[in-house]
Amino acid sequence: MRLLVVEDEQKVASFIKRGLEEAGHVVDVAHAGADGEYLALLNHYDALILDCMLPDKDGRQVCRDLRAQGVTTPALLLTARDTSADKILGFNSGADQYMSKPFDFNELLARVRSLGRQSRPPRLRTLSVADLEIDPASRGVRRGGREVSLTSKEYLLLELLARRAGQVVTRTEIMDQVWDIHHDPMTNTVDVLVKHLRDKIDRDFDRKLIHTVRGVGYTMKEE
Ligand code: CA
Repeated sequence: MRLLVVEDEQKVASFIKRGLEEAGHVVDVAHAGADGEYLALLNHYDALILDCMLPDKDGRQVCRDLRAQGVTTPALLLTARDTSADKILGFNSGADQYMSKPFDFNELLARVRSLGRQSRPPRLRTLSVADLEIDPASRGVRRGGREVSLTSKEYLLLELLARRAGQVVTRTEIMDQVWDIHHDPMTNTVDVLVKHLRDKIDRDFDRKLIHTVRGVGYTMKEE
């Protein structure tokens, strides 16, 4: 999933980002309410994690303003206080979930997962293209019945191409889905990642599945 974390405390923000990335998500971070709101309007996220205590704008207000602008992305509010009045305020802001700090990271992960399910149809069905099989639940990949071991980014790229099999996936889409916003788009990282993925998926097979669409991007299909 692509997630946005809005939290001004750098340590907490990077702890959350790292944990979510280890669980296979792509995570952007904003350190102020207005920046978070801007990113949430600009990009498509599967879920937002908003801290209530921000220097410029309360997380609940960010959520309310986003809802007023038609952004329906599921949101989880974090707050240091755990009073019922705060909870009510939290829910009135249009947030979907509420957690008080300090929180258990596994609980945060579970809640983010459930928020993601609200914004996306279930995606646990096995995907297959020719003799390539992908199991999104376990992130297991097999080609010709043989298991293929991929890095987290290679897996994200493969799943993206397989879900859109037969269609062209642009380089911009790949950058949006596989990297966070701090990635430098001027580098040739997409090409490098595609090369590594091809080495693992196509190199040993006569039938190639990943094809370059010159000047646009890539497509996955059985020729
Ligand atoms: Ca804070």
